Amino acid sequence: MDNRLTSVVIVGARGRMGQSLMSEVLVSDSMTLAGAVARPGAPGLRDDVGHMIGRRSVGITLSDELVPGRNDVVVDFSLPEATEGYLARCVERRVPLVLGTTGLTEQTQVKLIEASREIPIVAAANFSVGVTVMIHVAGATAKALGDDWDAEMFEIHHRNKRDAPSGTALRVGQAVAEATGRKLSQTIRTSRDQVGPRSRDEIGIMALRGGDVVGEHTLMFLGESERIELTHRANDRAIFSRGALRAARWVDGKEAGLYDMFDVLDLHGV
Ligand code: NAD
Repeated sequence: MDNRLTSVVIVGARGRMGQSLMSEVLVSDSMTLAGAVARPGAPGLRDDVGHMIGRRSVGITLSDELVPGRNDVVVDFSLPEATEGYLARCVERRVPLVLGTTGLTEQTQVKLIEASREIPIVAAANFSVGVTVMIHVAGATAKALGDDWDAEMFEIHHRNKRDAPSGTALRVGQAVAEATGRKLSQTIRTSRDQVGPRSRDEIGIMALRGGDVVGEHTLMFLGESERIELTHRANDRAIFSRGALRAARWVDGKEAGLYDMFDVLDLHGV
């Protein structure tokens, strides 16, 4: 049993995920909160972050600068525009990073790969353990079913979500494409603009937005006279926080490299 305490710095601390992450860390007996970072000019800078999430003082104040200690793990759920700066900071300080921010530009993705040659990074479009297992099952199912089955997906998220389709839908689609020898970029269709029969090798994704839906993904495999549906419903964003913090504990002390939740859950090759 590993009794070490993992020391965590949360970036994007005033956001929905940031607050959920801090709440989870503060009730955990295997982690400590070492810092909380918000954007420059954010309200509440230098206030005790305990008050921000309806608790008593915890002795950590909100900062607009990321200055991790050498034993800290940085957990970033902020905005894609901010990611490159934080990546550079983690490389400079030689600390591991758990990156949950989605919608990264291609340029930022290149920087991410470069940074992972220097420090260990776990990046995932969805840190939920349930979704990770769904991605695994989607790939295995697609492989077993073969080319005769069509794959279609829909996803629903709250009205404020910025990117569409969701990073999770793309990741599920990628798992199906890889398992059946298709190339994702050629196969994803994200709207119903094109009328007429579907081509055999496409994977359709419909993105719906509204209300406060935390996240729902349904993947359908449609065959002749039968259908398989895989659905994951997220009821609370704490599922992402718990998965991300599990990743933070896992990545603490790992070698440099780019890891994902398959590594954290040891699902590669299963
Ligand atoms: P949010 O808009 O509630 O929070 C984002 C926060 O980041 C805001 O408080 C914003 O002020 C802050 N921010 C902006 N620039 C910053 C900077 N330079 N430094 C520090 N903070 C900065 O959004 P959210 O719902 O908390 O989601 C945050 C990110 O996490 C999004 O990219 C979202 O898509 C992603 N997300 C990922 C997962 C996953 O499992 N990978 C799950 C949920 C959300």
